Amino acid sequence: MTHPEPHNLPVTTLTGIGSQSAARLEKLGIHTVQDLLFHLPLRYQDRSRIQPIAQLLPGTSALVCGTIEFTDTIQRGRPSVICRIADASGSLSLRFFHFSVQQSQQLKPGSLLGCFGEIRYGYNGLEMVHPEYKLVSDPEQLVENTLTPVYPLTEGVSQSAIRKAIKQALALCLQSDTAIADWLPASLLEQYRYPSLNDALQTLHNPPPDLSAELFCGASLPALKRLVFEEFLAHHLALLQGKLAYKRWQAPIFNSNAATKQAFIARLPFQLTNAQQRVIAEIASDCCQEQPMLRLVQGDVGSGKTVVAAVAALLALESGYQVAVMAPTELLAEQHFRNFSQWFADTDTQVVFLTGQLKGKARQTTSQALADGSAGIIIGTHALFQESVHFHKLGLIVIDEQHRFGVHQRLALREKGQHSGLRPHQLIMTATPIPRTLAMLQYSDLDISIIDELPPGRKPVTTSVIASERREEVIARIEHWVSEKRQAYWVCTLIEESEVLQCEAAEKTTIYLSESLPNVRIGLVHGRMKAAEKDAIMQAFKNRECDLLVATTVIEVGVDVPNAGLMIIENPERLGLSQLHQLRGRVGRGNQDSYCLLLYQAPLSQAGKQRLAILKESNDGFVIAEKDLELRGPGEVMGTRQTGQIQFKIADLERDSYLLELIAPAAQLIHQQYPAAIQPLIQRWIGHSRHYAEV
Ligand code: ADP
Ligand code: MG
Repeated sequence: MTHPEPHNLPVTTLTGIGSQSAARLEKLGIHTVQDLLFHLPLRYQDRSRIQPIAQLLPGTSALVCGTIEFTDTIQRGRPSVICRIADASGSLSLRFFHFSVQQSQQLKPGSLLGCFGEIRYGYNGLEMVHPEYKLVSDPEQLVENTLTPVYPLTEGVSQSAIRKAIKQALALCLQSDTAIADWLPASLLEQYRYPSLNDALQTLHNPPPDLSAELFCGASLPALKRLVFEEFLAHHLALLQGKLAYKRWQAPIFNSNAATKQAFIARLPFQLTNAQQRVIAEIASDCCQEQPMLRLVQGDVGSGKTVVAAVAALLALESGYQVAVMAPTELLAEQHFRNFSQWFADTDTQVVFLTGQLKGKARQTTSQALADGSAGIIIGTHALFQESVHFHKLGLIVIDEQHRFGVHQRLALREKGQHSGLRPHQLIMTATPIPRTLAMLQYSDLDISIIDELPPGRKPVTTSVIASERREEVIARIEHWVSEKRQAYWVCTLIEESEVLQCEAAEKTTIYLSESLPNVRIGLVHGRMKAAEKDAIMQAFKNRECDLLVATTVIEVGVDVPNAGLMIIENPERLGLSQLHQLRGRVGRGNQDSYCLLLYQAPLSQAGKQRLAILKESNDGFVIAEKDLELRGPGEVMGTRQTGQIQFKIADLERDSYLLELIAPAAQLIHQQYPAAIQPLIQRWIGHSRHYAEV
C-alpha cells in the first residue's frame, strides 16, 4: 500500500468531484489532490468585514449588509431588476440584468441582505451589478475569517466548486496521515525564514485578513517565495539529474593525435585566439573521458565558435566516429557546410549536407553515405534528427546557436544517435550571452566554456541611431559606400513573427531601393525563398556580384561576408537588444571600419531611445544582455526568441528572478545531504511532463 499522500490521491477522492469534473480539472493541469494544492489563487477578495455603505469607493469590491427598501423591475431600455438596500450610513442600488421572477420576489422589502461585489457609479449614486448576495438573519453570518481566494477556472468548473475542492485538500493536509511532505530541509527554511510547506499553502489559499495590505499591493509573501524557491529548485534539480543520467552512459573515447590536430590548425587561414585554444583544450579533455561531454560554448558574435567545433569534429573523425552539426536555419547550415568542406578539403573526410528540402536520389545517396560510414561529417537543420537518418558511428553532436532551439529540443537530442550502448558527446554553441542568473535555469545541466576574446584586428562597429525621416541621407550614404567597392546589408524587421509579412516588406523595400539607387546591384533574401535561390543570392553577394543585400532577419545568424561593413536595420525598436546585437554581428568581420545604422520610426518613446542607445554605446554581448534583462525583464529576454520554454506553475520570471541566485547552493545541499528529496521534488513540480527527457 502506498501512503495516501496528496500526490497519490486522485481528485475524485474529494467530495463533489466526479469523473466529469476531474476531466475538466485536467485542463488546468490538475490530476491529484497535490495539484489542487498548488493551484494558487489569482487574487483575493476581502469578506472579512462588513463595510458601511457610505464609505464604499467606486472600483473596489466590498462586503455590505443592509435592509431592502424596495425591489423594482424596470422595463425601459434593457430590462433589469433594481434592489435598493440601506444601512445606518447610506443606501446602495443592486442591479440585475439576468433575473428570474422568483429571484425578484425573494428580495422583499424589510429583509436583511448581504452582498459582495464591485462598486461603481450608477444612475442613482453607487451601485453593484450582479453582486453575490444572501438573505441573512444576522450580519455576522456573512463575515469570513480569512480572505477569500479567487482561482483561475476552466469551462465547467465554477469558482465555488474549486473553492470547495481546495478546502478539502487543505483539510487533508492538516491530518497527519494525509499531510503533504515538506522536502525542503529545515536548515534552509530557517536560513531564508520560509514557512513550512503546509503553512505556506494554508496561508496562500486562505490568508488571514491582516495580510490584505501586502496581498493587494502584490508583494511577495514568504509563503509564496518559498513555493517559488521550491519550484526553481525542482527545475534545477531536474536538469542536474538529466546531466547525471546522461553522464552515466558510455561515450566513445577520442584518442586524438597531436600532430594531425596541429597540421589541421596550421592549415587554417588564421591563428586561433588564446580563448579558442583554451576552449578546444577543454573540449578535448572532455572527449577523452568515458562519459559523454555536455558542453556549452558561449562566445559573442564573431568570436569564432565554428572553427572550434571543426577542431572538435576532427577529434571524433580521427577516432573513426561521425559528427553531426545542427544549425537553426538553412542559411547557416549552408554556410557551415561550405566552411567545413573547405577546412576538411585536405583530409579524406567526406562532408555532406542534409535539410528537409533534400529529396529523392540526392537524399538517398546522402543517407547511404551516413549509414555506411563513408560520410564523416553531416551538416544540416533539425531535419538531421527528425527524419529517419541512420548513422554508422555517431560520436559527436554539435548544436549551433542553441538559443534558437529551446531547452526541450536540446534535451530531446540526447536520446538520438546512440549505437552499441555509446552516447555521442555533445557540443552546444550559443552567441546569446544569457545573464548568469537565467543561465542557472537554462544551462545548469551543461559545463560551460566561454570564448571571451575576439580575433585580432576586429574594430568595433560604429552604431548610430537615426530617425527614418533621414532615410534619404542614409540612401546617399549607401551610394557613396558602394562606390568605394564595399558592400552593405539592409535588414527589414516586423513586429509580427509572420514570415509572410516580413518577406513582403523586404520585397517592397527592394523595389523602393532599386528606384532610389539605380547604380547599385541589389539582392534580396528572405525566409520563404527556396534554399537554392537563397544560396545563389548569398553566393553572389559573397562573390561581390551584388552590392546591397536586402534581407529579413534570416541573416541574423551565420552570414559571413567581411567586405560588407555597413548595415542598416529598419525599425530596430521592434527587436530585442540581443537580437539586434546578433544582427549587427554580421558586420565588423573584416579589418576595415564598419557601421550599423539603426533607422527607427519616429516618434520613439524615451525607453525606446534608451534601449537603442545601449547598442550605440556597447559592442559587448554580455553587457547588452544584462541591460536588456534590466529593461525588458527575463520573460521577454528568454521568452520571445525561444521555443519550448520552461513552463512554471507558480514562479514568474519577471517577478521572481531575484530568487534564482539562491538555487545552486540549495541544490548542492540537497544533493549532498538530502538526496531522497530529489525525485519527490521533481515529481511534484514537473511531474509527468516529459520536459526533461529522461535519459
Ligand atoms: P561566431 O562565433 O559568431 O560563430 P564564426 O565562427 O562565424 O563566429 O567566425 C567569424 C569569422 O571569424 C569567420 O569568418 C571565421 O573564419 C573568422 N575567425 C574565426 N577565428 C578566427 C581567428 N582566430 N582569427 C581570425 N579570424 C577568425
Ligand atoms: Mg556562429
